[in-house]
Amino acid sequence: MRRTLVAGNWKMFGTRQLVRDVIGELRAMAHGATEVVICPPYPYLGPAADMVAGSALCLGGQDLHVAVEGAFTGAVSGAMLRDMGCAYVIVGHSERRQYFAESDELVATKAEAAIREGLRPIVCVGENEAEREAGRQFVVVERQLAAVTARLGASAMTQTVVAYEPVWAIGTGRTATPGQAQEIHAFLRGQLRRLDANVAESVRVLYGGSVKASNARELFAQQDIDGGLVGGASLGAVEFAAICMAAQGM
Ligand code: PEP
Repeated sequence: MRRTLVAGNWKMFGTRQLVRDVIGELRAMAHGATEVVICPPYPYLGPAADMVAGSALCLGGQDLHVAVEGAFTGAVSGAMLRDMGCAYVIVGHSERRQYFAESDELVATKAEAAIREGLRPIVCVGENEAEREAGRQFVVVERQLAAVTARLGASAMTQTVVAYEPVWAIGTGRTATPGQAQEIHAFLRGQLRRLDANVAESVRVLYGGSVKASNARELFAQQDIDGGLVGGASLGAVEFAAICMAAQGM
């Protein structure tokens, strides 16, 4: 059975105090059944690494550069994330696609770079509001996922996590209904099955988009939802802990 994963994406929010508050709260309740990953901004990875040491929590980066190293001012490589104790890295978040013009091709290259550095990429896919209104959600997520599966192949795909994040639900308070989310998750699972049956069974498909303590349990109870990628609600120690508890109660 797939192990549930809850990842907190702090985006460009937080302080050192928040690292202490959130990790302090989660350390006490995290145990082996659910994997909990905190993805703070880069400057907080060091303090976060000290605090997760010896616990069941782990760390992730929010993005990486495709190169191992080089003259790329402001960028951070997968090797650096690994060196700081990260096990995961988010790639293809809709904010990266929108504000940093990241293409499907670049997202696939980033996923490949993550695997090369021993990180598990959390590959985000999801349609925007106009695409959903036009009934294009399946076409969009199929295209985004196919770019990554074509690049990685079945064997490397077993190291990845897929996150379905409908753009219209991110940071808006408009969560996809459990039925809407399950429909896309089942579709993504089917796409993975076309690549390889083992990949389909082993890859965790997370839901992201206004997950809160009040809706987490129902979302996580869906057959093809293996956890969540949580933005705003991961910035509150008590709220995020409640979401992790909901995941553990599956
Ligand atoms: C996200 O940033 O990936 C996200 C899902 O944000 P929120 O939970 O705030 O919608």
